[in-house]
Amino acid sequence: MADEMPQIRDSSDIATNLATVRALIAAAAEAKGRPADSVTLIAVSKAQPVAKIDDALDAGHRVFGENRVQEATAKWPEIKARHPDVELHLIGPLQTNKVRDAMALFDVIETVDRAKLARALAAEMVRSNRRVPCYIQVNTGEEAQKSGIGPEEADDFIGLCREEVKLPVAGLMCIPPIGEEPALHFALLREIARRNRIDILSMGMSADFETAIRFGATHVRVGRAVFGARETGAAPASATAL
Ligand SMILES: *Cc1c(COP(=O)(O)O)cnc(C)c1O
Repeated sequence: MADEMPQIRDSSDIATNLATVRALIAAAAEAKGRPADSVTLIAVSKAQPVAKIDDALDAGHRVFGENRVQEATAKWPEIKARHPDVELHLIGPLQTNKVRDAMALFDVIETVDRAKLARALAAEMVRSNRRVPCYIQVNTGEEAQKSGIGPEEADDFIGLCREEVKLPVAGLMCIPPIGEEPALHFALLREIARRNRIDILSMGMSADFETAIRFGATHVRVGRAVFGARETGAAPASATAL
């Protein structure tokens, strides 16, 4: 069940939550014979106030995810000025007219899913002389309302991004459909990564990150289990954000 978090209470103590999630990540990794540091925790701070992000930074955390360019642009330049070692991932849909803003702020773009966007990102990398690692988002559930390249088209699209567009394709990302067994989707993403020789797999959220690690996740995107409930009005992971 995608919305249940049986193992973690919704606590406002961010340092405690981070320690709990890190311990669960380490246990899940070690159960598969992998070192704990083979999994990167991306703390998803969308719809969370800067005060909570500061708590996470004080606890030593440095890798964060946001799903809207506009919200991130309001929050993060000031935080990054204080903490230049922060690594910020864009995990929500990206419109081509926001590529320049996104590239100026984010250190990883996880949601490349169409040729027009890939070309816009590549052009901005040339213009700004800055290369930003990109992940390809795969719509493993083939949901009409969700972004991501279809699993059938993924190999061709990855090839296009690498060979023709010259995008630095570093990883794959997916968001399984709500209410479905996520393991099947994680297995599908892992298989697409294997046959395309891609090492990074961004999959798993608060409700299913341990399962994702069992299926080879190298990056888990965890929001509520770290920060507690989001402020109201926040877009769900499946929404087509601006
Ligand atoms: C919001 C979001 C998450 C985190 O979801 P939680 O259930 O709060 O852990 C992960 N990935 C994406 C793409 C999201 O939009």
